[in-house]
Amino acid sequence: KKIVIAIDGFSSCGKSTFAKEIAARIGYVFIDTGAMYRAVTLYGLRHGAVQDGDVNEALLIAMLPEIEITFAFNSERGASDIFLNGENVEKRIRSIEVSDLVSKVSGIAAVREQLVRQQQQLGRQKGIVMDGRDIGTVVFPDAELKIFMTADPAIRAQRRYKELEAKGEKVSLEEVERNLRERDHADQTRAVSPLRQAEDAVVLDNSHMTLPEQMDWVMRRIEK
Ligand code: C5P
Repeated sequence: KKIVIAIDGFSSCGKSTFAKEIAARIGYVFIDTGAMYRAVTLYGLRHGAVQDGDVNEALLIAMLPEIEITFAFNSERGASDIFLNGENVEKRIRSIEVSDLVSKVSGIAAVREQLVRQQQQLGRQKGIVMDGRDIGTVVFPDAELKIFMTADPAIRAQRRYKELEAKGEKVSLEEVERNLRERDHADQTRAVSPLRQAEDAVVLDNSHMTLPEQMDWVMRRIEK
């Protein structure tokens, strides 16, 4: 029987890598909901809804009907790329500029309503692995398997820093640490759907776990 697997947790815990691997292993569809909030942020940046480093909420909300987000499988990456009004923005949305603003955008109730609705549509077909901050609590409260991921903050910063460095982004480790700290704080304290662990979620702390070890851990729970 195909199920919904909901993965939530802090920034840069390796949720996407883990979710992607599960989907590949058992033939499920992986949906990265963080990418959706990032795509809305990118749209706002490009169309003047960000002024002096701050998000003009009213302006961004007015733009929501213009924003169409779609996914298409990229066999090279083994996961879906995200498209913003038909443009592949998979790489663009990972910049530190977008990362610095995305928590403000994701704190806007109207943005969440639109994206959550779309996520629920995408999950209608079972056989889905979705990662984010509110998947087990809000998007799919009835998900058959809920995982809450966490890892040591210093380890998370190192991982994200290496990732960005490999992509040629010019950032310092301090900048990455600051971004993660601020994002975690904003995500946990926002008024709408703050990041929290669902009561029926199982915790996975992968600070000292390899990906194969994480896969063993999750396969035991899927097969149950
Ligand atoms: O997962 P990722 O780090 O790409 O998510 C970027 C941001 O999008 C998070 O820091 C959070 O503010 C927001 N987000 C959210 N709800 C989700 C997924 C992401 O609020 N389900």
